[in-house]
Amino acid sequence: MRDTLKHRGMRNKLAEILVDKGITDKNVLEAIRTIPRHLFMDSSFEGHAYQDKAFPIGAEQTISQPYTVAFQSELLEVKPNQKILEIGTGSGYQTAVLLLLRSKVYTIERQLELFKKTKIFFRKMGYRPKKLIFGDGYKGLPEEAPYDGIIVTAGAPEVPKALMSQLKIGGRLVIPVGTNDQIMTLFIRKSEKEFEKKEYGSFRFVPLLENKN
Ligand code: SAH
Repeated sequence: MRDTLKHRGMRNKLAEILVDKGITDKNVLEAIRTIPRHLFMDSSFEGHAYQDKAFPIGAEQTISQPYTVAFQSELLEVKPNQKILEIGTGSGYQTAVLLLLRSKVYTIERQLELFKKTKIFFRKMGYRPKKLIFGDGYKGLPEEAPYDGIIVTAGAPEVPKALMSQLKIGGRLVIPVGTNDQIMTLFIRKSEKEFEKKEYGSFRFVPLLENKN
């Protein structure tokens, strides 16, 4: 598959749809206009890649809906050179958005099949997260902490304590919390012990799974 002017045109339309749905961050919208989402998906979905929908990516996982990616990215308020931890690399589409926002990205995926596939894909595309790790995001990545931002792209039955503790003071954690559907939740770390919590709309994600071994 290639990226063509036709794809670019479809991306511009998608960005307009996201504006209509309330996305305002110019850098996030520019990332949506730039990133060839169809290349992150199986070629059989190429014709649908610029619909505002989630699609299967294998291993029972999905590439998040563009609106969801944009909404989470906007809540994270990413600034250039910030350290961002992403839990749930999946197809790597959200990772690419974070990279276009010029942050340093550390991303973790627990499905080996997806991890391997996305690793090869990033190399081919020239996307360079600081680290792409195969492991359990429930524990975060303490050796690189603290982070300016942490984004969880799977539905968390509860907020993993490790993630809270790995945030900088002033840092932001964006996490969908719940089992069947999830409330998008933002935590801003105010001090060592205090977090401000804000809740947004309801979303539906594949579950954040904990490794029991
Ligand atoms: N941002 C991705 C979303 C993929 S779906 C995209 O848009 O493509 C959520 C991903 O989280 C899945 O790939 C799933 O395997 C992964 N995941 C679930 N639990 C996890 C955990 N504990 N640690 C790391 N990744 C996890």
